[in-house]
Amino acid sequence: AKMREERIERTKTVCTYCGVGCSYDVWTKERKILKIVPLHGDANQISTCVKGKFGWDYVNHPDRLQKPLIREGSNFREADWKEALNLVTTKLSSIKQQYGPDSIGVIVSSKTTNEDGYLMQKFARAVIGTNNVDNCSRYCQSPATMGLFRTVGYGGDSGSIKDIGSSALVVIVGANTAESHPVLATRVKRAHKLHGQRLIVADPRTNEMAERADIHFRPRPGTDLVWISAMSRYMFDNGHAKIDFIEEWVNGLDEFRKSLEPFTIDYASRICEVPLETLQRVAQEIATAESMCILWAMGITQHTTASDESTAVSNLLLVTGNYMRPGCGAYPLRGHNNVQGASDIGAMPDNYPGYQHVNDPGIRERFEKSWGVKLPSLRGLDNHQMVDAVYDGKLRAIYLAGEDMISADSNANVVAGAFEKLDFFVVQDIFFTETCRYADVVLPGAPALEKDGTFTNTERRIQRLYKALPELGDSRADWKITQDIANRMGANWRYEHPSEVMDELASLTPLYAGVNYERLEGYKTLQWPVAADGTDQPILYLNGFAFPDKKARLYPVTFNEPTERPDKDFDLFLNNGRLLEHFHEGNMTYRIQGIREETPERFLEISEELAKERSIESGHWVRVTSRHGSLVIKTLVTHRVHGKQVYLPLLSREGPINVLTGSHADPATNTPAYKETAVNIKVLPER
Ligand code: SF4
Repeated sequence: AKMREERIERTKTVCTYCGVGCSYDVWTKERKILKIVPLHGDANQISTCVKGKFGWDYVNHPDRLQKPLIREGSNFREADWKEALNLVTTKLSSIKQQYGPDSIGVIVSSKTTNEDGYLMQKFARAVIGTNNVDNCSRYCQSPATMGLFRTVGYGGDSGSIKDIGSSALVVIVGANTAESHPVLATRVKRAHKLHGQRLIVADPRTNEMAERADIHFRPRPGTDLVWISAMSRYMFDNGHAKIDFIEEWVNGLDEFRKSLEPFTIDYASRICEVPLETLQRVAQEIATAESMCILWAMGITQHTTASDESTAVSNLLLVTGNYMRPGCGAYPLRGHNNVQGASDIGAMPDNYPGYQHVNDPGIRERFEKSWGVKLPSLRGLDNHQMVDAVYDGKLRAIYLAGEDMISADSNANVVAGAFEKLDFFVVQDIFFTETCRYADVVLPGAPALEKDGTFTNTERRIQRLYKALPELGDSRADWKITQDIANRMGANWRYEHPSEVMDELASLTPLYAGVNYERLEGYKTLQWPVAADGTDQPILYLNGFAFPDKKARLYPVTFNEPTERPDKDFDLFLNNGRLLEHFHEGNMTYRIQGIREETPERFLEISEELAKERSIESGHWVRVTSRHGSLVIKTLVTHRVHGKQVYLPLLSREGPINVLTGSHADPATNTPAYKETAVNIKVLPER
């Protein structure tokens, strides 16, 4: 018999939760997860947060899907793979034949691997023949990417996480970093406490980083564009703009300066409802900082002005010369482990892998040659448009993997109605989610610990994960399932290992040109763009910006009031976001006993002022109603929220919170404006 020690396996993996991308060894004995041991990962060194450390037991949870399921009336029955895949491929083929390839949509996960996602978008394009393919970064980060495309050219963080620690000034806007990106927040906490780093937080809620900040101010929700643009104007008006840098490296100065005309500090103070003196202090900090990083997340990107707000952030960095050096730049904080990767690998309706446009004939030809098929040339539908297209009768079937879209998309009732209307709906996941309830076939995929592959974290870092456990029961790694479906529909794919998928991706994608598994072995990592010889770029733009003339662009933006605002019927502003212990809707973290015991249920945070005005105490039940739906929830009275603002964690175990949010979206990206939701609350008798 093997000695006890011999039976313990140590396997390198990458965290499956947030975009920080902590890597560590997982120690397993058969299927038991013994412990997590971080060994100097490039993103996290020896740190993890509670989710990375204790958040893995869901892989052995009895709720894991272990067999394909086929709908029978309102129930499901277990089936074998052959029967399930025959049904999937027969149905998809007949819908394609009857209504055309654009009647089918494919939704890729931003939690599965780059290789899983690459094959799904290839399946949509090369096998189905449609560009109707997207991933759930549409719900969070697309506007940040848009802002960077407009101004500096690459849709990714401009430096590394470790650079944030070396910045003189960190500005966090609309991000709950200590809870949503804990290990990254630790860098800031340390630099702020020990090395004199200055910290400014703009957020309507007093989160942990706000409490630590040198200046915390609370702009009226949806108005960040105004104070950020006012900072740009202030720099010009007071001689702090880096004119030499702009003249050498940036286009569009004159038009941009004109566009700043309305954005005086006085105006910003009025519109944002922030004291003038506070904004002046912020301006002084920015003007005198030797280097500045701006970190932002959903507080900016989930508004109807989201792409313009993200653009304003990048404009300010250009005006103050905070690109092209270590310790400065733009840091949109990607939410899921593979939000960056899912877009990089082309799970987008307008882009092939590496953000190469589908409507560029030369690029299309390269993909056609490699994949051996004719490809569609028109942009496809994004997630948001797919829902509308179902109602219009244009979209008939969806193949969706690794996303609980009923919980994640806005306006859950409308999304549920669309799923009910579909002729055929295939969902691939590891648990029977809310979304599975609407499926015709459910296919059991495999979680990160049961797969080989790569993830790309928020700092563009591509990292290897290794298979630590066999797939549970009859579940299968997602890339194998997609390959099987593709081949049953006439493809001839012969991938035997995800490394072969990466080799193909790299051969077609300049951003990933030099990426291969040898260069990513163990704890080795690469940050894109990776040249063919394997040289990567931890800091972007050191030799110019990602435009043909190497110059960045100042991009004028204008302010529009949020679409949905509180009024007399819906008098409160609803904010929402993560909790430290849980991940999003909680499909994984609710299945971890320790975490569930720590934070067993969701709650609505209300301010001390509101509690007093309405005689509400913590633990009272309220009905929260928006223009789109309602739910019942317990209250928690806290100093973190203020006045007529309430805060709802994303947990959906008691039903999707997105019954409350509407379908209004950022026009440039169709990212829903989750954070423009007005509600009222009614106190209920004891339940
Ligand atoms: Fe995982 Fe993010 Fe926590 Fe790191 S900070 S352990 S990546 S959840």
